Amino acid sequence: MSKFWSEAVKRSSPYVPGEQMNISNLIKLNTNENPYPPSQQVKEAIQSEIDTNLQLYPSPTVDDLREELATTYQLNKDQVFVGNGSDEVLAFSFMAFFDPGRIIRFPAVSYSFYPVYAKLFDIPYEKVALNRDFTLPVEKFFQADGGVIFPNPNAPTSIYLDLQAIREILDNNPDCVVIIDEAYIDFASASAVSLINTYENLLVIQTFSKSRSLAGLRVGFALGNKQLIEGLNRIKDSFNSYTIDRLAIAGAKAALKDTTYFDYTITKIKQTREWVTSEMKKRGFCVLPSSANFIFVTHYKEAAEDLYKWFKENGILIRYFQSPGIDNYLRITIGTDEQMRTFFEKLDYILEKKN
Ligand code: PMP
Repeated sequence: MSKFWSEAVKRSSPYVPGEQMNISNLIKLNTNENPYPPSQQVKEAIQSEIDTNLQLYPSPTVDDLREELATTYQLNKDQVFVGNGSDEVLAFSFMAFFDPGRIIRFPAVSYSFYPVYAKLFDIPYEKVALNRDFTLPVEKFFQADGGVIFPNPNAPTSIYLDLQAIREILDNNPDCVVIIDEAYIDFASASAVSLINTYENLLVIQTFSKSRSLAGLRVGFALGNKQLIEGLNRIKDSFNSYTIDRLAIAGAKAALKDTTYFDYTITKIKQTREWVTSEMKKRGFCVLPSSANFIFVTHYKEAAEDLYKWFKENGILIRYFQSPGIDNYLRITIGTDEQMRTFFEKLDYILEKKN
């Protein structure tokens, strides 16, 4: 604590991301990255940008990537906002649509960055307890005062909420913005993007970090009606009009175009997820129904924290969760088949040793 800190800094309690250790000799299943590298076309597009344009500022309006996103999601360019990872887009959205003095709601078990932004920007919040089966209690999100935000599929539970429930939440919040954080939607089914032209209070946020293998490049985006996007632009231009750089723009554009590679990796990860889920169940784990690139599990008798620590000592990073509403759970990112086979070899060794 320093006497020079502002009130905002004093009340902040920053987000602590999953461990990013020396990854070369570790299997990293703790921060929901894609285990597959970006496509060849992405690498070539980035290289070509390095070779030609790096001395020039990027476009502050990111027109060509926004155009490409608009085509992909069948929207207009003025319905698309691009930022430095969806974390930045989320931060701008909290500033643009949520106010001090008006209480927002998000699930009690959810992405832990939401309370961080709320505290930083002095936005009061209410955490809504999940149902016993970890699904979202839809009606508890009705008639919110200052806004609603939740991930779909939820993180860390991996559970997907269907579009009918989302419509109900939107219908019952006509006077505030409902933000749906779709970081993992490409591993699930229908996106709420199809509702954007019906609901002026809907903002959908997505990322290139998960399904498009570009966590290292930091590109996220928001889709919503024109006025919401204009609000985000006003915030962005008050901080740094060039939030995403030339390499990010080139890489993201190429990733969007390479639909073959995208479809291939998504299908592969979903197949691995189904295989991993059934293998975990055989070993006494309860696995929540996952629509994401990770699973959320608990064992009927083993302590999750002990397993997490043992795996870490033995070269595999997974995530241990212990907080109000979550007891004894692990979140495991779906890796390649080879990584998951190594994971099961180690899991079998420790489970046998203990019994
Ligand atoms: N939302 C959720 C629910 C997440 O789990 C993550 C990844 N930690 C993000 C947003 C942020 O992703 P990024 O900033 O890499 O786009």
